[in-house]
Amino acid sequence: MTKFSDLKLDPKVLSAVAEAGYETPTPIQADAIPPALEGKDVLGIAQTGTGKTASFTLPMLTLLRRGRARARMPRSLVLCPTRELAAQVAENFDLYAKNTKLTRALLIGGVSFGEQDKLIDKGVDVLIATPGRLLDHFERGKLILTDVKIMVVDEADRMLDMGFIPDIERIFQLTPFTRQTLFFSATMAPEIERITNTFLHAPVRVEVARQATTGANITQKLIEVTPARRDQTAKTKREVLRAVIEGEGEACTNAIIFCNRKVDVDIVSKSLQKYGFDAAPIHGDLDQSQRTRTLESFREGTLKFLIASDVAARGLDVPAVSHVFNYDLPMHAEDYVHRIGRTGRAGRKGAAISIYVPADEKFLSGIESLIEQPIPRGELPEGFEISEGAKTAPVKRDDAKGGRGGRGGRSRSGSSSNGERPSRSRKPREDKPQPEAVETKAPEAAKAPSQKVDTPEEQQPERKSERTPERQAPEQRPAAAAPARHDANESDESRNRRARGGRGRRDRDNGPNVVGMGDHVPDFLTRSFRPGLIDSDEAMSETEDSAES
Ligand code: AMP
Repeated sequence: MTKFSDLKLDPKVLSAVAEAGYETPTPIQADAIPPALEGKDVLGIAQTGTGKTASFTLPMLTLLRRGRARARMPRSLVLCPTRELAAQVAENFDLYAKNTKLTRALLIGGVSFGEQDKLIDKGVDVLIATPGRLLDHFERGKLILTDVKIMVVDEADRMLDMGFIPDIERIFQLTPFTRQTLFFSATMAPEIERITNTFLHAPVRVEVARQATTGANITQKLIEVTPARRDQTAKTKREVLRAVIEGEGEACTNAIIFCNRKVDVDIVSKSLQKYGFDAAPIHGDLDQSQRTRTLESFREGTLKFLIASDVAARGLDVPAVSHVFNYDLPMHAEDYVHRIGRTGRAGRKGAAISIYVPADEKFLSGIESLIEQPIPRGELPEGFEISEGAKTAPVKRDDAKGGRGGRGGRSRSGSSSNGERPSRSRKPREDKPQPEAVETKAPEAAKAPSQKVDTPEEQQPERKSERTPERQAPEQRPAAAAPARHDANESDESRNRRARGGRGRRDRDNGPNVVGMGDHVPDFLTRSFRPGLIDSDEAMSETEDSAES
């Protein structure tokens, strides 16, 4: 078996690895580090959790040990699809570089340009960035990429999903042809294959087995629920979620709860808080400092339930997560694999419990065919029955109009699909509030149509600046500083909405294109109105209308 000491890493890097407690390299590290140290391009096909971050960081630190960075000229780049992943790579860098003098800067959206500029001005060895923010700095004339010797693209398949491939291509073109490229992707979609054929030079291909989705250490369960009426799906699912969490008892020490839409992340989080659960949301429309704080508290164990969207939680490495709950089954089967991989890490035991409603049938069959086995069906906790509130809340306007809300549920009574078993009503606990008042106020709320139709977060990826191909110089133009044309605090996902057209697979559902403004979309159109919406209980009910329609 390969040992770290066999890998010809810089002794200072080796000592940091030993201090991190790593004993042997993971397969991706054993296979990718040697060719990377020889200066070869590497194409790594691996997912998070395999140790891939160290597989590129350790050789980079070794290769960069000689030489110094000049002002505004980073010596290496690491590109990540999301802010959280970039921040995680930066943490890994700090861990492995702690015995060296190498420096790094993190360029992500939601953080002021000023601080980032200062770091770049000093000169950094490693620049870790999301693609859009990196290009913004470049276009402002603050960054020169001609000294980049190593470029890492992490989670390329996610970049593709999020519509970043044009940005990545552009960054490739801005860096020297002679650079070394370390390129990582969990899957090799044709578009990813094309990029690697174009920009990598005779790469050494290193592949590690797909993350086991059904590892013996992760217990999977599917809770099938048939809401009394389709328009009560959200409320019913929240009740089921609470019951399932409580049913897990002390075994559930902490959990990530996944929702498909950002609006539901907010609603589920707020609802759990109302019922006394220690919960907080994380998704791309939240302020970066809030996202960071929430993640930190979850990591440190001071927050028990993290309610998350796929984008925000993708690749997050929190070692001890006892449970993953899928409030929604993911629309894309591979997201199921990523989600449940947040638990059962490093050989620990984990539980993944998913709530299923009849409308999820298509998603479930996609998941089960990907993981090549049925998800074991689980039972609702004994005694649970959907509340009268969920069964009897007034029909909302959409249903009265014969919208989707009425299909499939009217004649059925609310019960779990295994509901032959008669069950007693769950009494509200003394210390918990009565069923959410918001839902019994539905008629007023339903009168005002929602201002914002929420979309799955993947449709609103990290960002896209307003660059147009005509304005892009093929060569470096650091002196031609173009002012940033957006608010640094605007969420990357929101900004990105305006610019992507059909590149990511999630873009397909974006609805008809807006015509008449050319490429220009006024900034105010891209702003999120969410804070106003979730401030009031009526809004919670109202947003449910839009989420379910
Ligand atoms: P990654 O796939 O880079 O997200 O890494 C997943 C987790 O594995 C991180 O918590 C790393 O700290 C940890 N890790 C990486 N390499 C090793 C190793 N050789 N031995 C033990 N743990 C490791």
